[in-house]
Amino acid sequence: MISKRIRELSAYKTETTPCKVKLSSNELPIRFPEEVKKRIKEVVSSIPFNRYPDPQATELKEIIALRFGVHPENVVLGNGSDELIQYLSISIGELNKGVIYPIPTFPMYGICASALGREKIEVPLQEDFDLDLEEFLSVIKEKAPAIAFFSYPNNPTGNCFSEEKIRRIREEKVFSVLDEAYYHFSGKTFLKEALSREDTVVLRTLSKIGLAGLRVGILIAKEEIAREINKVRLPFNITYPSQVIAKVMLEEFYFLIEEHVSMVIRERERIMKELSKLEGVKTYPSDANFFLFSTAYPADLVHKELVKEEVLVRDVSYLPGLKGCLRVSLGFPEENDAFLEALQKVLKRLC
Ligand code: PMP
Repeated sequence: MISKRIRELSAYKTETTPCKVKLSSNELPIRFPEEVKKRIKEVVSSIPFNRYPDPQATELKEIIALRFGVHPENVVLGNGSDELIQYLSISIGELNKGVIYPIPTFPMYGICASALGREKIEVPLQEDFDLDLEEFLSVIKEKAPAIAFFSYPNNPTGNCFSEEKIRRIREEKVFSVLDEAYYHFSGKTFLKEALSREDTVVLRTLSKIGLAGLRVGILIAKEEIAREINKVRLPFNITYPSQVIAKVMLEEFYFLIEEHVSMVIRERERIMKELSKLEGVKTYPSDANFFLFSTAYPADLVHKELVKEEVLVRDVSYLPGLKGCLRVSLGFPEENDAFLEALQKVLKRLC
């Protein structure tokens, strides 16, 4: 029998409507040159598929540690950072202690907590999308949660929360997870604290830097903490192809990733500026590779009309505090221009 806890759970939703311009999943716009494809063919064709991969993904971990400025002993790899969120939800504190996080945020924190029967403690963000410190402190006093998740920058709002507020919450003996999936676009990090404290870890991922299909998430912590969390890791969670392809990309083609990340940061500024010139359109500040915007029209209608123009964004208006909002990821300049044009057309049609 399926437990009541699981029956009551809603599965993670993704936006799958087919469209020519897909700006809905916060992926990196990057086309791999022939030279990259050739190298990948070479390394993939030499994989002995009848064998299990290295359970520790040693070589991949080494290059990741080098690229992220840490030691391999500080790293636990997951099948995406989703899996690491699950490992943390299993490992930190007793299961009868709750999990706290602001809302709206990345849904996996709540899904993992519910799957384990842990209490979910959801604290609405302030109107400016920063943490409501007073509310956090008061609910922590009442419920004493063991673990807090902070998406930093926050998905879907795009901003980084105040560092001081995060530190103040942590002082209440709440183990703090800084989910820095979008770090490459914010440049803001708690890495030093994750390496020096036993109550802080940082999550990163290769998904937002061009390698989402490989499913490689990265947990960075003090060696003692990393060692404990590694005990719940499934033995061969990083597949052979993922290990070899990610290694080649980080070792030989990292410059390509960096170039495309810079392009997205430039595009973020350009497109947000262009959008804010449109009448009735409001944009919200972003430290990520996506941002929120709203128009004078209902978000579900704008979403539907944009789909007719072959542009896919995410309607997030059903989330608390996000009435009228849509989330758009930054793509190639021509994709972003197509989005701008489509939105202008849609707004004209609706007025
Ligand atoms: N954390 C946040 C804040 C995210 O937005 C996402 C992806 N949407 C993830 C984690 C999961 O990333 P991964 O692909 O590494 O599982």
